[in-house]
Amino acid sequence: MNLSEILAKGHTIGISGHTKPDGDCIGSTLGLYNYIKLYYPEKEVSLYLEEPPSEFLFLHGVDEIKHEKEENKVFDVYFALDCGDSKRLGEFGEHFENAHFTACVDHHKSNLSFADDNYIVPEASSTSELIFNLMEQEKITKEIAECLYLGMVHDTGVFQYSCTHASTMNAAGVLMDKGIDYSRIVDESYYEKTLAQNKILAKAVLDAECYFDGQVIYTVVTQKEMEEFGVTTKDLSGIVNQIRITKGVEVAVFVYENKEQDYKVSMRSKRFVDVSEIAVRHGGGGHARAAGVNISGSEKEVKDLILKELSKYF
Ligand code: AMP
Ligand code: MN
Ligand code: MN
Repeated sequence: MNLSEILAKGHTIGISGHTKPDGDCIGSTLGLYNYIKLYYPEKEVSLYLEEPPSEFLFLHGVDEIKHEKEENKVFDVYFALDCGDSKRLGEFGEHFENAHFTACVDHHKSNLSFADDNYIVPEASSTSELIFNLMEQEKITKEIAECLYLGMVHDTGVFQYSCTHASTMNAAGVLMDKGIDYSRIVDESYYEKTLAQNKILAKAVLDAECYFDGQVIYTVVTQKEMEEFGVTTKDLSGIVNQIRITKGVEVAVFVYENKEQDYKVSMRSKRFVDVSEIAVRHGGGGHARAAGVNISGSEKEVKDLILKELSKYF
């Protein structure tokens, strides 16, 4: 994929990432948006995402993100980032479907190359690393570097998960040289929690149950508990990582109630269970070691389904 060739195809450029945007989604889309805005001032570029969680609001350009779709707008070029399929773009999928030319940059194993031009690397740490590869390194400013570094930090669990490669560390090194406050990015966007977020995390850990001789750990947060703790679904991001580090665990499953009879399931594995297989079988997606899916049904039905799927591996 060649960024300048794609941008030469038109004047109006749109960018989106997946619904409920995470660090990589926001970092990669905003990094690309800032780059196009700075080096292609003659183009009309817009970034469309759902409202980002508060820990990402310090990034440059975040206040320019649009949250409403444009009715009947036909973009010349539209980028889908960090998305395995166009449905994951939510309402902005319409922009993508109507665009004259589409491009997709992603690292989901489940990605079926759904755009006109696709740069899909399932082994890549993050979409942010792939966006880094598409940019001219000397043109990466401190503000752009902050976006991409944050994205890499979030999808690698601070350069820890097995998706972290030498290429990831090399890219991170180049970004560090741009003068970013890397330690602060990690601390304030990844680790820092409000007291309410910490308390709901503690509650979820306290309620966790183990199965298959401690190889699976499972916990749920309901809407009622979110109300009780004064949090929303945006406040639950660190929970699955916290239960995952329990000694002896291969698979960690964190479930939250999205709305009545609708649950979001997050799965993480350590060594041998490909959790994306389970997610894909039920309409979700992801990577071998981190995947997600939305399942409708009761709390018990969701649990029975996931444990039945996991029983095939243990
Ligand atoms: P999460 O558990 O939400 O942090 O997501 C883990 C990985 O699975 C990320 O790469 C997500 O993009 C992907 N993922 C999460 N939920 C879904 C879903 N409903 N459909 C497709 N992919 C998903
Ligand atoms: Mn993502
Ligand atoms: Mn990602």
